[in-house]
Amino acid sequence: MMIKVVSSAALPVTENLMIQKNRIEGAAEPCGKRVCIVTGTHGDELEGQYVCARLAKLLADGRQSLSGVVDIYPALNPLGIDSIIRGFPMFNLDMNRIFPGSASGSLAESTAYDIVKDIEGADICIDIHSSNIFLREIPQVRVNEQSEEALLPYALMLNVDLVWIHAAATVLESTLAYALNACGVKTLVVEMGVGMRITESYCEQLLAGIMNLLREIGMWRGAAGKVRSPEVSKDRSVGFVNSDAAGIFIPRVAHNSVVNAGDVIGSVLDPLTGMTVENAVAPCGGLVFTLREYPVVFGGSLLARIMGALQ
Ligand SMILES: [Zn+2]
Repeated sequence: MMIKVVSSAALPVTENLMIQKNRIEGAAEPCGKRVCIVTGTHGDELEGQYVCARLAKLLADGRQSLSGVVDIYPALNPLGIDSIIRGFPMFNLDMNRIFPGSASGSLAESTAYDIVKDIEGADICIDIHSSNIFLREIPQVRVNEQSEEALLPYALMLNVDLVWIHAAATVLESTLAYALNACGVKTLVVEMGVGMRITESYCEQLLAGIMNLLREIGMWRGAAGKVRSPEVSKDRSVGFVNSDAAGIFIPRVAHNSVVNAGDVIGSVLDPLTGMTVENAVAPCGGLVFTLREYPVVFGGSLLARIMGALQ
């Protein structure tokens, strides 16, 4: 175990903004490969914290079976994590909108720059997100159409339930994943669980997937369990359920369950009158892979996403 400083910048009152990583070097015959596990870009997404903790311990104990290097970065936005703020505090800024950053830029930009430079040259990076405080997601990898060919084989190794391939039109060029894929680091974005919480079963599921990936690429010779085959969104429709009314949302289906078109996904209640102001229905049958967790809704709030059948 080797703790290294990736980026350090002075803060006003004799403190430092410091990004750290835990470098675990395998003791088995070297293979020249490096995998980075990163998380905590959004300070209110915590599922990745537990994955990092579990992985660091597991690899440190199993160095004899590891070849190559695994770098673990649990907190790319430590100020956000410490203060329970999604963005980069003080600047009111989504840190995942400033990559690849700039060496001579603002504090946030130069931090982003240091992070990209540090990861550059790695073979694979897994960027773990956990939705936000509003929506709960089943473990999934999100890939944009442009990088589908390069990334899908690795996404299938990660023991997730779903691989969601986005249209190229929705690609954000200022994300860490975009910056890294552009410089040749195969970067997989994982979304799972819900903001401000840790879902232990999801973390264990992804951990098993990471160990499987390390084994598949020849870095891990230890045990790794059998992984599941995810649904892949290709040629499937995604149904969005949004509320029309404002009120308190009570789900009527379970997350990660299969529904039929027309099923009631949940009800919106008016707490003042007790009336049900809306029963939101599924626009198509399929798997409820996103379900609203935060009860307060306004007109237009996202309540659920459904992965439809093959078209
Ligand atoms: Zn995120």
